Amino acid sequence: MSSSSTQPALHTLQTIFGYEQFRGDQAEVIKQIINGGDALVLMPTGGGKSLCYQIPAIVREGVGIVVSPLIALMQDQVSALRQYGVKAAYLNSSLSGAEMKQVESQLLSGELDLLYVAPERLLNGRTLNLFNQIKLALFAVDEAHCVSQWGHDFRPEYIQLSVLHEQFPEIPCIALTATADAQTRNEIMERLALGDAKLFISGFDRPNIRYQISENSGNAREQLLRFIRNEHEGEAGIVYCLSRKRVEDIAKWLSDKGLTALPYHAGLPASIRQQNQERFLREDAIIIVATIAFGMGIDKPDVRFVAHLNLPKSIEAYYQETGRAGRDGLPSNAWMAYGLQDVITLRKMQALSDADEQHKRVEQHKLNAMLGLSELTTCRRQALLYYFGEKLDESCGNCDNCLTPPETWDATIAAQMALSCVHRTGQRFGVNYLIDVLRGSENERIKQFGHTLISTYGIGKEYATTEWRSLYRQLISRNLLDVDLEGYGSLRLTEAARPLLQGRERLMLRKQVKAGKSGRKRSSSQFNKEADTQLWNALRDCRKQLAEEQGVPAYVIFHDATLVGMVERQPQTIEQLGRLSGIGERKLESYGSAFLEVILEHIKPKSVTDTVDETTQLLNKGLIPQAIAHQRGLTLATVYSHLAKAIEQGEVGLSDVIKLDDKELKAIRFAFEQNDDDKLKPVHEALEGEYDYGVLQCVRATLLCEA
Ligand code: ADP
Ligand code: ZN
Repeated sequence: MSSSSTQPALHTLQTIFGYEQFRGDQAEVIKQIINGGDALVLMPTGGGKSLCYQIPAIVREGVGIVVSPLIALMQDQVSALRQYGVKAAYLNSSLSGAEMKQVESQLLSGELDLLYVAPERLLNGRTLNLFNQIKLALFAVDEAHCVSQWGHDFRPEYIQLSVLHEQFPEIPCIALTATADAQTRNEIMERLALGDAKLFISGFDRPNIRYQISENSGNAREQLLRFIRNEHEGEAGIVYCLSRKRVEDIAKWLSDKGLTALPYHAGLPASIRQQNQERFLREDAIIIVATIAFGMGIDKPDVRFVAHLNLPKSIEAYYQETGRAGRDGLPSNAWMAYGLQDVITLRKMQALSDADEQHKRVEQHKLNAMLGLSELTTCRRQALLYYFGEKLDESCGNCDNCLTPPETWDATIAAQMALSCVHRTGQRFGVNYLIDVLRGSENERIKQFGHTLISTYGIGKEYATTEWRSLYRQLISRNLLDVDLEGYGSLRLTEAARPLLQGRERLMLRKQVKAGKSGRKRSSSQFNKEADTQLWNALRDCRKQLAEEQGVPAYVIFHDATLVGMVERQPQTIEQLGRLSGIGERKLESYGSAFLEVILEHIKPKSVTDTVDETTQLLNKGLIPQAIAHQRGLTLATVYSHLAKAIEQGEVGLSDVIKLDDKELKAIRFAFEQNDDDKLKPVHEALEGEYDYGVLQCVRATLLCEA
């Protein structure tokens, strides 16, 4: 790589953004643009797309124009850049006439490195005319998949963006997206007239995201609450639901349980939507409960979990939605609970949609792939990546199936009963009725239809209703059963069911997991020591206060990853602080001392009395010395020395600390009396090592107290 194009880029990365080195394709992409070429960049969410155009815009002469579809988020992006000391501005319909004039004059006088523009604004003559009068560094088209008419994020204005390359053929153009498939890629190339662009495709794996898909065992919201409480207390997340009503219900329910959960769906007034989105971006620990209307362009880096309470329609949608977790690379969860009803609803929605046959077939195929992923018993990440044409040789070790391999059972006979019950009742009934028949319910309807007389009546009593539902779900997922088109939800056998019914095939299924078994406890903080958690919280408070003063989201001050660095390294000088990842020169100058103060305050040795008091308080709360040591992150010896001090001062009695009977106490005291200078070692030896030094120290304290 020629050093002429990488040196200034690396320097910019290190001094302005505070990062040590480029990631993945970044260096190559940046080189291509700095040298005046075009590029199409496919990188997963969190891969670091922004720097691919921000750094060339800073390094190259002139201003970099960034086309971005979401005007609501431009302001945050611009204020994040300004925090780094980068001269950035935006042009969109939210600006007043005077503000617009000001940006235009900045532009004309060459004061800007980056200008964010909404596509419709860019296409008007006035803006293009401005561009003709100034020096341009590059065009960047973010979320470039919006040009695709097949995709679900289609934006008509994007189609006209080819005008950029036509009018300014010599200005480098970079298009970026996280959408992987070849069709979208070709559409972008064509519509943006990127004929000679260099293509950069990164791997799509998101190793920091843990995939967990579980069965909705009838109370999904309880499962959700348990998941949040166990693994994400005090953290930000997104909960996706299918319907607006469900969004409202879940948001209310979580709020009633004491969490801060805000609804977001297209039926809410724009002002409420805007307000909730803003709170999600700006405050810590907000949960947004949303339909899929929420999320595109949300580049909040510290979303710690994405939960689905319904099955998405395709793996593409699932991957895009879950991809909003953990952009900062820290451990995050993609969690889903789904059940029979989801499968039926989606199948019905598809059947009733007025798309043409070809579209329907594509959609059906996509849903089947999604169902396959959900019912899978092997590594989910392998399957996900395989779907996107990538190969992962070993199982990932970070999905539910890898972490707790599911048990399977031979469901052949049960499945035959279930299928045969569909057949004997004439393929005219839904799941609930079928289960009633199998379990032999005394039910009027069943009697009326004469189904108490058929051979499958009551043969399935050994399985609970929930087990039957789970079985039917898996049969539908595997296309052994079809849901009827007219919307009554009756089930019908498919051709694929025949071999199983005839006993020519066996069926192994995932065992139903008992509710509540899933949560591996990961306390809300990622730190082992209480003291580290305290520092973490103090740093977050400091960040929050600064963010409020500046009117920006907290992560714009520093990302979580940078605060984690502070906790782990505990820098004690400004220079040491400046070496942490994510702290560039400008931020060090603006905020370094505030955060350093918090760290120094935290590691300041506590006065002896303070620390003894803290131990004593824990003892008075009923903790034994071992537990105190654990909680405070101290050695047992230190705790005993605190307690000895407290005994000496008459704050606590010996019996509060250790249980010794009279005989033992006498023996220890006697041993102390035998040696004059109160040393512990001779006493320890005289008693043949029977008592810990800590215990002896406490007994000695009683002697000193009496003296
Ligand atoms: P994308 O737009 O691809 O989703 P972003 O540009 O928002 O990703 O970057 C994701 C995160 O990674 C951001 O927090 C960003 O600051 C960080 N990041 C990007 N490049 C680097 C790098 N070279 N070293 C360290 N962190 C980086
Ligand atoms: Zn796995």
